[in-house]
Amino acid sequence: MTRPTIRNDLAALEGYHSPQVDVDVRLNTNEAPGPPPVGFSEAVAVAAKGIAWHRYPDRGATDLRTAIGKLHGVGPEQVFCANGSNEVLQTVLLTFAGPGRTVLTFEPTYALHGHIARLTGARTIEIDRDEKFFVDPAVAVETILAERPAVTFLCSPNNPTGIVEPTDTITAVLAAVAEVGGLLVLDEAYGQFSPFAGESLLGDETPLVVSRTYSKTWAMAGARLGYLLAPSWLIDDLEKVVLPYHLDAMKQAAGLVALDFLDEMEERVSSIVEERGRIEAELNDMGATVWPSGANFILFQPPQANGDEIWQRLVDASVLVRNTSGWDHLSGCLRVTVGTPEDNTRFLTAFREAIA
Ligand code: PMP
Repeated sequence: MTRPTIRNDLAALEGYHSPQVDVDVRLNTNEAPGPPPVGFSEAVAVAAKGIAWHRYPDRGATDLRTAIGKLHGVGPEQVFCANGSNEVLQTVLLTFAGPGRTVLTFEPTYALHGHIARLTGARTIEIDRDEKFFVDPAVAVETILAERPAVTFLCSPNNPTGIVEPTDTITAVLAAVAEVGGLLVLDEAYGQFSPFAGESLLGDETPLVVSRTYSKTWAMAGARLGYLLAPSWLIDDLEKVVLPYHLDAMKQAAGLVALDFLDEMEERVSSIVEERGRIEAELNDMGATVWPSGANFILFQPPQANGDEIWQRLVDASVLVRNTSGWDHLSGCLRVTVGTPEDNTRFLTAFREAIA
């Protein structure tokens, strides 16, 4: 047999990996520290009984999109849902990127932005952030006007740095994007952990989509549900591209039920933000370099900048954080997800011992 070969333009591509290790304390993938309330699981079980399993689901996910829209003060025609915000981003890129088009990212940022763009056959341009990991608005605008990207990504709060981009930067980038007929994707996977919400910038003649996920704040990474807010004409374009019936009935029901537990979600978010402050303060006290985070994780560099070594010592203490020390721009750094207070204490104790 002659084995079929992968597309030439994908042959050199590396897959996306998030290594898992069997440990007691898992603080490596920015999940919520605990499950949604018991009432949520009970209501989902009731909803499951009402599903017509022999029928295709509601293709328009109308109830879910209406409820999400209400949460953000827009109509269902301005909401697009998919299987995790990864599929949201993939659909945007399949629709607006592709061969002969350019996608712009500001590095370091969420690796999937560039990765999915390349899968669609688009050319990617990576601009470095400044030394504090902020996007330099002058460089961003100049690059956009020169390169005329079809899609520009901003991630705020940014993964893996936690940095919240100043609103002035977002509006400057958006204005440049509009000038060249491009689209700005504002990835707000961690939006509820910070005060700013990009939805305030949405408009029918504004080339902006804001993407969000159920995976983090709603504690539903297992459900794979994300969405974006955008002008309705743009949603119509996405609908032409996404597979029919991609959003199963169970997921639509679960996403709808979750929104009945908004107060619990907000309480969970404020306790995570409080714990984030405690971890930041203790890491600072221990001499680590800590980047200010608006998310549910913290990027830090151990005092000796020996991220690899410290990561292994943490694993030996059964604590798993994300080893970012080999990543471009992040030499010697680690990223820890905010967990339960007990998990966080366990991490801080292990870190104190690891650097001793
Ligand atoms: N955007 C960012 C910035 C992320 O960090 C993640 C998950 N790590 C995602 C999108 C994708 O999340 P999901 O597909 O679970 O919604």
